[in-house]
Amino acid sequence: MSINSLARVEVISYARCMAAITQTCAQCGKQFLVIDQEQKFLNDKGLPLPKNCPTCRQKRRLALRGSERTLYKTKCQKCGTEIVVAYDPSKVTNTILCKKDYDQYFLENDPIIKDPLPEV
Ligand SMILES: [Zn+2]
Ligand SMILES: [Zn+2]
Repeated sequence: MSINSLARVEVISYARCMAAITQTCAQCGKQFLVIDQEQKFLNDKGLPLPKNCPTCRQKRRLALRGSERTLYKTKCQKCGTEIVVAYDPSKVTNTILCKKDYDQYFLENDPIIKDPLPEV
């Protein structure tokens, strides 16, 4: 790459910065930039400019994910009691046990840890 083309890349990225819009977050009042790539993306999708800064948006996304967690009704494979689990029973290969049978299982069987967690 010649020096000339390097200089041109710099000019283009500088122009991109200039096209960014400064928005004020409706949540925390901080200013944030909406870069032109994001503006283009929102425009293509027919979406308005974001009202919240990336930090607040990320927080809200995490909060939403938490409340959207699906609960499944299934039955204890030992005693048949109806239980609610936070994972999809059809995708689980482990035995699904109610709290009582789960506790009982570990009373009767010492858990053998074959793969201890790696020390962090
Ligand atoms: Zn914010
Ligand atoms: Zn049970």
